[in-house]
Amino acid sequence: MLIPYYFPIKANEKARIAEQSPRPFNGRIKQLPASGRCRVNCQSKLCVAHMPPEDFDCVVIGAGVQGCFTAYHLAKNGKRTLLLEQFVLPHSRGSSHGQTRIIRKAYEHDFYTHMMAECYQLWAQLEKEAGVQLYRRTGLLLMGPEKGRDFQLFRDTMERNAIPTVTLAPGEFGRHIPHVNRSPGDGAIVDTTAGVLYADRALRAVQEVFRRLGGVIKDGEKVTDVQPGSPVAVTTASGTYRAKSLVITAGPWANTLLSHTELQLPLQVVKINVCYWREKTPGTYAVRNRFPCFLHVDVAEHHIYGLPSNEYPGLVKVCYHMGSETDPDERDRQTDRGDIDVLSRYIARHFPGLVPTPAVVESCMYTLTPDHHFVLDCHPSHRNIVIGAGFSGHGFKFGPVVGKVLCELALGRVPSYDLSPFKIQRFPPHSKSAL
Ligand SMILES: Cc1cc2nc3c(=O)[nH]c(=O)nc-3n(C[C@H](O)[C@H](O)[C@H](O)COP(=O)(O)OP(=O)(O)OC[C@H]3O[C@@H](n4cnc5c(N)ncnc54)[C@H](O)[C@@H]3O)c2cc1C
Repeated sequence: MLIPYYFPIKANEKARIAEQSPRPFNGRIKQLPASGRCRVNCQSKLCVAHMPPEDFDCVVIGAGVQGCFTAYHLAKNGKRTLLLEQFVLPHSRGSSHGQTRIIRKAYEHDFYTHMMAECYQLWAQLEKEAGVQLYRRTGLLLMGPEKGRDFQLFRDTMERNAIPTVTLAPGEFGRHIPHVNRSPGDGAIVDTTAGVLYADRALRAVQEVFRRLGGVIKDGEKVTDVQPGSPVAVTTASGTYRAKSLVITAGPWANTLLSHTELQLPLQVVKINVCYWREKTPGTYAVRNRFPCFLHVDVAEHHIYGLPSNEYPGLVKVCYHMGSETDPDERDRQTDRGDIDVLSRYIARHFPGLVPTPAVVESCMYTLTPDHHFVLDCHPSHRNIVIGAGFSGHGFKFGPVVGKVLCELALGRVPSYDLSPFKIQRFPPHSKSAL
């Protein structure tokens, strides 16, 4: 929590600040002036709580996976970085919480597959830095009508990019993947690089390494105003911070923050019912029995995906890749269960070893763009404001590389990847975006 140095602070307020700032700060902060003491007289020589607000190179808003990795890369580049989060961490109100996510190279577009090579390396690097396991290889079974457009797009991208795969002919499917009913005409290819990322654990790891690198995280601090300029100023209930550049990675709240900068993107926020289904015989679809993650395309209006039973023993996560529109502050008032009905029918037909009624339903949100591609770009009018948004339900695996390119944009460097698929200009003017 930062209190600008010009605020008078009462004794009881000091105690409250001390209570709310339990973590030691390990960063490199310039020494305080000649007196050698903080100006609000807290007697500290290296006082982060009371240092002048303009002291940051970069402020990042939002401590989901994208904001955390952006802050991590900025700190690795020696930049004094502040990561602001509206909720007390950890929290389950955005898009990055929960135990698991799928990581895969199988994609419909080359530009995602190209980014994945480095993603795997950077995830492995974080595992080493934090000393925890974040990835478990399981493979991903891609299923769908062999002549269908989506299945062919995935297959062609994997072939073009020489992704290691195993194709399962109809005659051998049941031998390798028992307890799944394959539809006649469905193809089946396994992306053998794919697996599970331990999501909550990954967020803790990246935040921990960011702190170790000298980064500052202030949680429970909602940004209420952004004043573009050089420096850019960001206001929370606790004060105003200034920085050379700002990165907005606010997930479902992106447009709320962008409204302070006269920009609105065509984003749609939907609530996802995260459903877990009980195995009739425990272990049938378990990670320890080498059951893979799966993605079934062209089987309903939107894809259906799942992960082996792992985080909750005996329960398999199977979700529909779409939900119903919601206000992120009122997520739990969206009670539509149409997606669960689709999933129940799907489970009954394809997964005979699961009870077709969900045992556990959790909530999460997607922030969708019209083409389901990300937004990774500078603000069109304020180049020192960088935007990472619209991750459209598939952004977690890309966190390390998204963070790297958002860091590069914030530092005015040439990004490591061709970002044309992710530009704001791709949206037609005056559709839902007001540029
Ligand atoms: C059910 C589900 C399954 C998914 N499965 C996969 C998968 O298998 N593989 C995959 O790659 N991806 C998957 N995804 C997508 C992935 O999880 C998201 O793309 C990713 O988490 C988005 O991260 P984010 O940082 O953009 O958003 P968030 O995690 O929502 O982070 C944004 C943060 O900004 C904070 N914030 C907002 N406004 C303010 C403010 N004013 N002041 C301060 N802080 C603010 C929020 O509180 C939040 O913490 C899935 C998503 C869901 C919901």
